[in-house]
Amino acid sequence: MLIALLPGDGIGPEVIAEAVRLLDTLGIDGLAFEEAPVGGAAYKASGHPLPDSTLDLAKRADAILFGAVGDPDCDALERHLRPEQAILGLRKELALFANLRPANLFPDLADASALRPEIARDIDVMIVRELNGDVYFGEKGMRTTEDGLREGYDIMSYNEAEVARIARTGFETARARRGKLCSVDKANVLETSQLWRDVVIEISADYPDIELSHLYVDNAAMQLVRAPGQFDTIVTGNLFGDILSDLASMCAGSIGMLPSASLDAQGKGLYEPIHGSAPDIAGQGKANPLATILSAAMMLRYSLQLPEPADRIEAAVSNALAGGLRTGDLGGTASTREAGDAVIAALGS
Ligand code: ATP
Ligand code: MG
Repeated sequence: MLIALLPGDGIGPEVIAEAVRLLDTLGIDGLAFEEAPVGGAAYKASGHPLPDSTLDLAKRADAILFGAVGDPDCDALERHLRPEQAILGLRKELALFANLRPANLFPDLADASALRPEIARDIDVMIVRELNGDVYFGEKGMRTTEDGLREGYDIMSYNEAEVARIARTGFETARARRGKLCSVDKANVLETSQLWRDVVIEISADYPDIELSHLYVDNAAMQLVRAPGQFDTIVTGNLFGDILSDLASMCAGSIGMLPSASLDAQGKGLYEPIHGSAPDIAGQGKANPLATILSAAMMLRYSLQLPEPADRIEAAVSNALAGGLRTGDLGGTASTREAGDAVIAALGS
């Protein structure tokens, strides 16, 4: 099984290194790694954030472990050359349309949550975010109004096939969890959301066992903070999912703790921490690698069908936290490397 390693920019290489060290320690038979540049690192090396050779590796691989892209040095580049285009391009080229982002609180991190511990304890939600459509991929541009004002625009669009596909992933995910699906939209003001809601209701006919509810995104944000325990699985569009999953991450402790999977229709996937390249702390050896380590666990579970080592990794993370492991984002002083060491040490426990 070939794993493509795409470390990227900023803290990406630092956190990927710890995940690879852990996977090496597990000694899984037949696991091979091949690395390629992506993002600002690739732009600097070859003039393009997603070189053909990197895309080719991603296509050949059975799964992709991705760090982060984003580099302040590239801020002035034209949009198609910016690091962020690499991840958008991978999602599109590999048809990774479903982004699964779990947010749950490790018991020992109740203090790190932005919520009161007694509320935070209840959070165990899977956010299923659509990845290939919405305002990120619509026509966009800059024009001048009749009054001579600069005006930016981004078209938000979804067709019914795109909504149906992610709705099914939402229902299937809910079925494998606690059987509750909340669809989040803004159907009171957006045409895309009206279609979204109609299609989700149509698809729900195939899932009579799932308890379906709908919330407007503003209310969903409020409810996630007020009473996160009411949610099991949330299905939503690209933009709303981006925002809600960052919000859920702060409820769950830290952005440095949360993994994600982006899956195609066959279950091949790209696995990455939900955080970005964190240029403010890059190169200082203090990034929390746990989100990436937990992403590697999701990779073993969802794309490589290896649930046992996935369970072992998740238990080791939990045990390491119970043993006092805290990186800076969790209010401690452990370095990236020390965090990796602590999880490796906890594998045996
Ligand atoms: P992007 O646009 O790529 O999502 P962003 O601007 O949202 O990037 P992040 O890179 O996710 O920002 O960082 C947001 C904040 O969280 C920063 O202050 C960063 O230092 C912190 N942060 C992100 N990831 C980690 C991590 N793994 N460990 C510690 N702190 C982190
Ligand atoms: Mg972000």
